[in-house]
Amino acid sequence: MSKLQPVRGTHDILPDEFEKFQAVVTRAREFATLYGFQEMATPIFEATEVFARSMGETSDVVSKEMFTFQTKGEESVTLRPEFTAGIVRAFISNGMQQHLPLKLFSTGPAFRYERPQKGRQRQFHQVNFEWLGDGSSEVDVEIIGLAGHLLQLLQGKGCTLLLNTLGDEESRDKYRHALVSYLTPLANKLSEDSKRRLEKNPLRILDSKDAADKEIIVNAPKMTDYLSAASKERFEAVCNGLKDVTFFQDIKIDPSLVRGLDYYTDTVFEFVASTGELGAQNTVLAGGRYDGLVEQMGGKSTPAIGFAAGVERLSLLEQKIYANALNLPDVKIIIMPMEGIPPVLVHEQAGYLRNRIMLTAIERRLIGIGRQYSVEILWSGKLGKRLEKASKMNATHVLILGDEMKSGNMVLKNMKTGEQMLISCGLDGLKGLVESLIK
Ligand code: ATP
Ligand code: MG
Repeated sequence: MSKLQPVRGTHDILPDEFEKFQAVVTRAREFATLYGFQEMATPIFEATEVFARSMGETSDVVSKEMFTFQTKGEESVTLRPEFTAGIVRAFISNGMQQHLPLKLFSTGPAFRYERPQKGRQRQFHQVNFEWLGDGSSEVDVEIIGLAGHLLQLLQGKGCTLLLNTLGDEESRDKYRHALVSYLTPLANKLSEDSKRRLEKNPLRILDSKDAADKEIIVNAPKMTDYLSAASKERFEAVCNGLKDVTFFQDIKIDPSLVRGLDYYTDTVFEFVASTGELGAQNTVLAGGRYDGLVEQMGGKSTPAIGFAAGVERLSLLEQKIYANALNLPDVKIIIMPMEGIPPVLVHEQAGYLRNRIMLTAIERRLIGIGRQYSVEILWSGKLGKRLEKASKMNATHVLILGDEMKSGNMVLKNMKTGEQMLISCGLDGLKGLVESLIK
């Protein structure tokens, strides 16, 4: 029989790696709370038109990267390639308009049919932030500031921020015209993809990764020269505001940054890792303003801005920083029953401990802030081997259930200091222990 393997472009996240992965998600979630974002979740798949209508038929994602299939009822559905379209769909379907402004955080898997390589999978994960209902340039500054702050904390040093504006509709129309005039005589030198885009969405040619295209793009007209006075002023306000936000290593205005999707307006940005860990896939976080999208999808006109970061790419960055984030348990008690101790007594002590720890932690508001408490039973093996194992498992305490139980006691060993003491079995003894440990 052939060996079963994960599908190309998907990967298992094994326990060791998961710790790092989860550290990224946990930090992002803490940042969401810190900056006043609420978490919500949308389905992993949507009607295909949710993505086709929002991201643009000619975008790479919609034209070739979507996982689309027919349900048994013959609806066409698509696994989400990103979060924004689903969030906006949910915003409209649930009448969330009345609660504006809204700051929303989400996380989970996303799916794109891409050529798998380092930092690029067919199933990957994102952390996603959206801020709906406020079009002020200060909101751009604050949310880009959040992104830079998060990356600095995760990486230990900032990434480079690439920043551009696509301007308002008027500016974009003028620019599109200039760009097409420049590119048309050079059309036969462009890649096939870019030739197609020249008619349907010329701006996206600026985003091309093709080497020949890139050479042509260098001399193309620049968006900056076609901005309306209002767009220019708005972009200057964003750039100036960001200078005072200190979480960046570097800010670069990049006139060729257009982002791949149709819905962006005004500010667009990306953070790229300045060091080599990620190779060609060095964009870790990307986003922009999308003031027209809610209306385009059938809601009331609503300004909005957001960004997404790839969890796998963030996990690949600067491994060292995770040493701090590695989930060392705050309290990890390992119970070791000796031979002859009735299992029912072991389950009873473990039950008391687990219940008491949860109640105390909830009471003291210590749950959900990254603290880790655990109580495990190592059922069998020689005591020496079990103690070795406990130490490998980063146990903080070992509770030995042996002969002392006849007089109602257990041996508690502190794994840090090596100290041992007797504590009494049952709720009374364990309550005191928990009181002293859960802080
Ligand atoms: P790229 O230019 O690398 O294809 P993108 O512009 O398609 O990225 P976005 O749609 O902006 O990416 O997604 C935001 C982030 O999600 C990216 O910066 C990246 O970190 C991550 N990401 C996107 N596609 C993938 C993928 N196929 N595998 C892993 N991570 C991804
Ligand atoms: Mg892509």
